[in-house]
Amino acid sequence: VDKVVPVFPWFGMDIGGTLVKLVYFEPLDLTPDEIRTEGEILMNIRHYLTSNRAYGQDGVRDHALELNNIQLGGRRGNLHFIRFPTSKMPNFIDLCAMRHLHTLTFEIFATGGGAYKFEKDIVEKLKISWCKCDELDTLIKGLSYLSKLNLKECFYYEEPQNDANPNKHPFIFDTKRPFLLVNIGSGISILHVDSERNYRRITGTSIGGGTFLGLSCLLTGCSSYDEAIQLATEGDSTKVDKLVKDIYGGDYERFGLPGHIVASSFGHMNLPEKREQTTKADLARATLVTVLNNIASISMMCARTENVDRILFSGSFLRINDLSMRILAYAMDYWSSGQIKAIFLEHEGYFSAVGCLRKFIM
Ligand code: ADP
Repeated sequence: VDKVVPVFPWFGMDIGGTLVKLVYFEPLDLTPDEIRTEGEILMNIRHYLTSNRAYGQDGVRDHALELNNIQLGGRRGNLHFIRFPTSKMPNFIDLCAMRHLHTLTFEIFATGGGAYKFEKDIVEKLKISWCKCDELDTLIKGLSYLSKLNLKECFYYEEPQNDANPNKHPFIFDTKRPFLLVNIGSGISILHVDSERNYRRITGTSIGGGTFLGLSCLLTGCSSYDEAIQLATEGDSTKVDKLVKDIYGGDYERFGLPGHIVASSFGHMNLPEKREQTTKADLARATLVTVLNNIASISMMCARTENVDRILFSGSFLRINDLSMRILAYAMDYWSSGQIKAIFLEHEGYFSAVGCLRKFIM
């Protein structure tokens, strides 16, 4: 029996605590019949999404992440990656209604907390059929699909500490062996993954990407993630943090703690003269390093108790954030004496949305 492939449009949506991630499959192999029956509204939407890179004030298409000419559910097309702040969800719903989406009948697969929070509003205003999926199920489904489809999806740093030449290499990822997946969104979830169907959430922490962004805004007066990352890149966290050598005058040799390790995050900031010497950039950098040290230490602990040697990091916190990835890679390498590898992903925060899209084909 032929499987019935659902009609277009194919959207997958992840409505998170901070960002909405929207993936859109643009079919390239529409038959004359499909083109005839597609209708003007869908044609306009397709054209609007694929010919712009920005949508209004807040929507952005991550053009560099686009995957061209791929196969999905027996169809050939381009995969587009779009994001906007979750705080603009009401405007998005109104825009869809204005573009007459509510006159069409199609399915949307959605995940993230917002799939629940906004359900009533969406179903009332847009009359589409709204199918909610679990965000961790779709995260793993999306990861499994993209890591097979895109040979450059996973990568690692050979020399994360070498500014001149950190050497980013593709990592051929074998999903058959268990690994740890650390998803750094607004908050953090840590999963032990055996296979696509067999995984567990081990733990989580509320000190995540949202914490970095929130504290950076408070401490530096910046107003966006991009700005906070730019500041952090320029800053020096050792003006803010108290290091082992600030306390010992050197290394704490007995327990193998080198002097350059942070002993106390923000530990200098009780002194007025130290506060006077810090810049906004230093504070942003220290905020970043504080969050990262916490992630590194929890991830390392989980990897040890779960006995795995690979940690994959996902989530939009790693967007335009080479600095954080290299700090994490170095921390894993250092604390595990090279036993545990940190692996990163090109499509960062989009896996759950991609996992939703896969619902169309299975
Ligand atoms: P969630 O699903 O909880 O929204 P994401 O994986 O989308 O989580 O990650 C959200 C985090 O990504 C933010 O807390 C912030 O640290 C970072 N981030 C990256 N780009 C942006 C952006 N354009 N706006 C806001 N936060 C961003």
